[in-house]
Amino acid sequence: MAMQNAESVLNGLKLRPHQKVAVDFIVDGLRRADSVILESPTGSGKTLIALTSAYRYASEEGRKILYLTRTNSQQQAVFRDLGLFLRGSGIRAAPLQGRQNMCLLYREISQETEFSSESLSRFCNSRKKMVREGNPSACRFFNSRISSRETSDRILGGFMTAEELLLFGRENTICPYESVKASLKSADLVVAPYAFFLNYNIAERFLDQWGVDRSDLVVILDEAHNLPDLARNIASFQISVRSLDAAESEIGRYGDPELIHGIHASDAVEYMRDSIQVLARDFLGDNDESRIKHTAFMENLMIVSKQSSAKIHEMLVNLDIHGENVASTMEKEGRIPRSHILAITQKILAMDELDEDLYISTISSDNGGTLSVSCLDPSRVLDPLRLSKTVHISGTLSPVDSYMKITGFTESRYRIIGPVFPERNHLMLYSTEITTKYDRFDSSEIERMRSMIEHIIATVKRKCIVFFPSHAVMEKVISGGFVFPFLAELKSMNQEEISEVISDFRNGEMPLMAVSGGRISEGLDFPGRQLQMVIVAGIPYPRPDVRQKAMFQFYEKMYGSGWEMSVTFPAIVRIRQEIGRLIRSESDYGVSIILDSRISAHRKYFPGLRSSSDPAKDALHFFMERDYSMDSPGNA
Ligand code: SF4
Repeated sequence: MAMQNAESVLNGLKLRPHQKVAVDFIVDGLRRADSVILESPTGSGKTLIALTSAYRYASEEGRKILYLTRTNSQQQAVFRDLGLFLRGSGIRAAPLQGRQNMCLLYREISQETEFSSESLSRFCNSRKKMVREGNPSACRFFNSRISSRETSDRILGGFMTAEELLLFGRENTICPYESVKASLKSADLVVAPYAFFLNYNIAERFLDQWGVDRSDLVVILDEAHNLPDLARNIASFQISVRSLDAAESEIGRYGDPELIHGIHASDAVEYMRDSIQVLARDFLGDNDESRIKHTAFMENLMIVSKQSSAKIHEMLVNLDIHGENVASTMEKEGRIPRSHILAITQKILAMDELDEDLYISTISSDNGGTLSVSCLDPSRVLDPLRLSKTVHISGTLSPVDSYMKITGFTESRYRIIGPVFPERNHLMLYSTEITTKYDRFDSSEIERMRSMIEHIIATVKRKCIVFFPSHAVMEKVISGGFVFPFLAELKSMNQEEISEVISDFRNGEMPLMAVSGGRISEGLDFPGRQLQMVIVAGIPYPRPDVRQKAMFQFYEKMYGSGWEMSVTFPAIVRIRQEIGRLIRSESDYGVSIILDSRISAHRKYFPGLRSSSDPAKDALHFFMERDYSMDSPGNA
């Protein structure tokens, strides 16, 4: 990217004053430090800020840009802004997704969608080998057009989203995944999902294909408040009795070799199942989940199999080899080589390598008994990101100090951009009358919460979403019913059903009952009068389960701020995300009401928040005034 070109393109942009401030801050920050954190509110044009500042800095330094997003709609926003603002820049941009989303062939031969990237990679490699050996029907999408100049220009110059690329691939019989891979070396900017790049091995392969080193990159972390959980999830895993049952079926189909003297693959699986069930019996009691020692599973495996630790290790290594053989056989059969045996043994062998202080092992009753290994410290997973320049951007990163410590980006420069829309357009209230604190949320509090919500919605009569701290709280409250019909985001709903609920909400008048941190609380836009009131029915503090307690202890030991980092930070982020659904443009106005007196302790994160003894009356009054002023001739 030539600087002269960048300057002329950037000079032609009409950035709003706060956008100019933010861009200058990021560019200057990247010159002086390795990471920059920007909290910028809804409607401030975060994508444009991130793109233009990264473009300016990358042009100066001859770097490439990697833009990480969590959802498809965020990826679409990046390509939309590229097309709107940086079309004349000459930037060549590629949308990247894993084969899971981009392989057109596997969808034709399997109804399943849960394949590991490794098994799809093996499947693809074997199909491509067959094509190269003279069998084009092994994958008709893998052909000479994937690496043609025309395809590369269409992808990189056309600012195609992943969806458009899939369509393009289908219409032209070209593999979307392989064609992006073939074009990568000419790309200045790649837009990819977090999951793709936080997986170290996948990221390294991708960087190799792109031909860039981590130190050549500016990485934009979009909606960065998700980073801690995304990193923790990538580094955590589970082994359930149900997955062991699937491994046993595989053994039934692909053979039951002897692994060590007198012990066959089926025996090894049986020992593992027994170990998990014994752990569940000994440790669960009345609990759904209990913490166990990291070594407990292995110790039980030794007891039930009556084998030494060395023999157990030999047994697992040989079972792993059998899993490899099963995957190879599946591959030869033309199937996707997902071996449950292989997946399980690799997880168990990985347990030997874990740093005990950074992980917690638990046993639960889920799926017939589940052994879970959960990462407590995402900062280690994020270490490779520190080799690049990073821009962390989101509307909700406060308390920023907690974000920096949790992610390990403690040396970052940071800035918080204040509200960009008139503050008079948003009334923020909290009720002092109620709390969803676990020890106080009894049946009379549930009824008080239900009747308060009913009173507010029935009085104010505006399009409203109510966010509950959990499905359990929501179910308790809505089971009492309301005097009006309503929609609800139920735990059992699949994505299609959720989309239907959202569409009914957008197009109708019924209020929507949803869950904090659920599929509606983030990433969706409800412009104009599609949404005018948000009720937060209780602070969504994380449930105090064993994992949460371990995280608290971990941060307390590390920083002396266990509560702030493991409880306050996620709760504040969630509430601000929910409230952030409300005001998306200059002309939007609305009311948010937090039904939990404990919010008063966090007022500094909610400028303008005030207490109300009658939120329905105050909200009604606000709307009467705002409706009048918006309808008045001066605002016509
Ligand atoms: Fe799938 Fe593309 Fe590989 Fe063919 S070449 S198997 S379509 S990823």
